[in-house]
Amino acid sequence: MVDLKGQYTHIKTEVDQAIMDVVNSTAYINGPAVQDFQKSLEAYLDVKHVIPCANGTDALQISMMGLGLKPGDEVITADFTFAATAEVIALLGLTPVLVDVNPDDFNIDVDAIEKAITPRTKAIVPVHLFGQVANMDAIMKLAEKHNLKVIEDNAQAIGADYKFKDGSQQKAGTIGDVGATSFFPSKNLGCYGDGGAIFTNDDDLAHTIRGVVNHGMYKRYHHDVVGVNSRLDSIQAAILNIKLQKLDEFNAARQKAACAYSKAFENCQSIETPVVTNNKDGVCAAYDDHVFHQYTLKITNGKRDALAQHLQEKGIPHGVYYPIPLHLQKAYADERYQEKNFKVTNQLVKEVISLPMHTELDDEQIDFITSTVISFIEN
Ligand SMILES: *Cc1c(COP(=O)(O)O)cnc(C)c1O
Repeated sequence: MVDLKGQYTHIKTEVDQAIMDVVNSTAYINGPAVQDFQKSLEAYLDVKHVIPCANGTDALQISMMGLGLKPGDEVITADFTFAATAEVIALLGLTPVLVDVNPDDFNIDVDAIEKAITPRTKAIVPVHLFGQVANMDAIMKLAEKHNLKVIEDNAQAIGADYKFKDGSQQKAGTIGDVGATSFFPSKNLGCYGDGGAIFTNDDDLAHTIRGVVNHGMYKRYHHDVVGVNSRLDSIQAAILNIKLQKLDEFNAARQKAACAYSKAFENCQSIETPVVTNNKDGVCAAYDDHVFHQYTLKITNGKRDALAQHLQEKGIPHGVYYPIPLHLQKAYADERYQEKNFKVTNQLVKEVISLPMHTELDDEQIDFITSTVISFIEN
């Protein structure tokens, strides 16, 4: 699905040097590389505060702790996402409220959010799924109307530009009260281990979160709140510093591959290619708000599982993200949920399939993959 080795080969000299510099410095924790990366990422995202942490799941959890959400508070999020999003809500004793998504861009359905709001609702967690930014225009408006916090799960969309209806533009993850991202190796900005970060423009919240990640300490050995230990280590930060300089290039390579895939599938009746919500006219115009963490098709003729089997036999990597809606997972089932409210996720789990997506895909690989898919689906 990803070619981490191929990418490493292109940046090996710089990365190896950066790693050895940290090793020689012995500043393994909170070294200068961490501060350098934090500053570079703040500049890149045009956000006031980046707080590095140990992984994307921690970034979500710490964001919620920083906002002071309390047991019993309801947090609305998408039914169609990686479990980490709902997991941290539940872990903090908050109540996850899962809602349906849109059939076209797979992102949280804003009408469904509005229907799920109760007097106990305190926050919304939009997930920018597969690299495409959710409808932040509408989500921010709704949050303002109901006085809710917005925590963006930006694990899959770092670098994406969101265009508001008024023409202004902001980086994904910097629009809500707080944004959380992951530097897991296969993410668009991945390190060589675990890593994550929290973004916010709110000075007070940033201060609170800097204490939360460090055992609730604001003054050495004074623990004002119950915190956690969550750090990005210096070696990972040094690697990320190099990869951040190439993030736009990496995302452009993903968009180019997505464009080639979508062109190849253009005339297939039973294959729906990813919709780019900011660009309804043509498969390959300016993508901007979609950085293709995944390239995900819908197979509408019931042959998704058979296709997966066929790709397996042909040695073509593929994935089904996600095969089970969260509301049907044992850990997150709740008697409040009614199947009629999850029509879209219940259908998507039967139709979606993701193809290889990374920075090193070439035309020959894309031709082989698309022709294998098309000949199987059309026959
Ligand atoms: C990867 C991912 C996470 C978690 O990131 P980790 O670094 O693996 O903890 C959270 N949410 C989404 C949507 C993700 O894709």
